[in-house]
Amino acid sequence: MKLLLVCLDGVRVDLALPDAVAADPHFAAPDHPSDPRFSAPDAPDGTVPRDVATELGPLAPTLARLVRGGKRSEGHITPMWMTPPTDSGPGWSSILTGSTHEQCNVWWNEFVGHDLARRPDILSRVYFANPAARTMVAATWDAFVQAPGPILQARADQQRTGQHQVFHPDPQGGIAAADAAVSSWACWRLLHEGPDAAVVYFEGVDDAGHVFGADSAEYRAALRQADELTRHLIKAVYERHEQLGEDWLIAVTTDHGHRSEGGHGDDEVEVRRSFLITHRVGGALPEALTAPKTLRSEDVMWRLLDAIGASQGSWAADGVGVLRDIDPVGPSRDLDYEW
Ligand SMILES: [Zn+2]
Repeated sequence: MKLLLVCLDGVRVDLALPDAVAADPHFAAPDHPSDPRFSAPDAPDGTVPRDVATELGPLAPTLARLVRGGKRSEGHITPMWMTPPTDSGPGWSSILTGSTHEQCNVWWNEFVGHDLARRPDILSRVYFANPAARTMVAATWDAFVQAPGPILQARADQQRTGQHQVFHPDPQGGIAAADAAVSSWACWRLLHEGPDAAVVYFEGVDDAGHVFGADSAEYRAALRQADELTRHLIKAVYERHEQLGEDWLIAVTTDHGHRSEGGHGDDEVEVRRSFLITHRVGGALPEALTAPKTLRSEDVMWRLLDAIGASQGSWAADGVGVLRDIDPVGPSRDLDYEW
């Protein structure tokens, strides 16, 4: 099965999909407490009441349709709870490498002293599972593909042969234009090349959240735009399925929400609340994706890899990866050991 993972930064799911949030009590409160170091002084639940959210009209019809599924597909949404600090760096590092903040040592957007080289990302793991695999990433944010990350390892040798493709547009023209360039680049490749696994990242919603707050017309417009750019990707995947019969898993997630006045990073409910949409084109979803009542960010990568059959880690000899030095005492002069 092929994989398209769409990463939407800073999406308030109670605004994007109010019906889905209202229908599942596991969206109501975090499934694990936050470390007091990262708690906000007063963190009331800023969830938009369902009637108000519904009055706003459908902000994310594509995401809603992915959740619904159809005649030839099955869709699902699982509540996901981010672990503070809910900044983008730790959030996406956790989601895309299957790691806790401690495991990859990413706590802030500066990535100081990160250990991502030891925590390979989802695309690298697809390649490790099958070195013939073709992968691609398109993202506006530097950290996805270069310093201060990269969260997704560069894999220069596979870039040389075209097995791994990277698109990182110049953001000088603004984030909306960069997101559109990402969508256009990714759509062409999804349609004509059908990579085995793809990660596509859109930043516009988070940008609008920072500038205008989540309770703004601009934030809602950005949500609609991200949904529309996502629709273009889905359209390409469905065309592959229609013409070639390819089996695809589409997943959509976010790294955090936004406060009504804008901003994130702490432990407010509307900031910690995330989601994982999964949608199988041309079949039923594996139980590993529909069974969990809630997810944490570090679960996502493992479940997606498992779902597409990219199994990991067959070499499990004792001591693999453990670095041990020897004491500087010299050899024993035992002739059995002398060479
Ligand atoms: Zn973010």
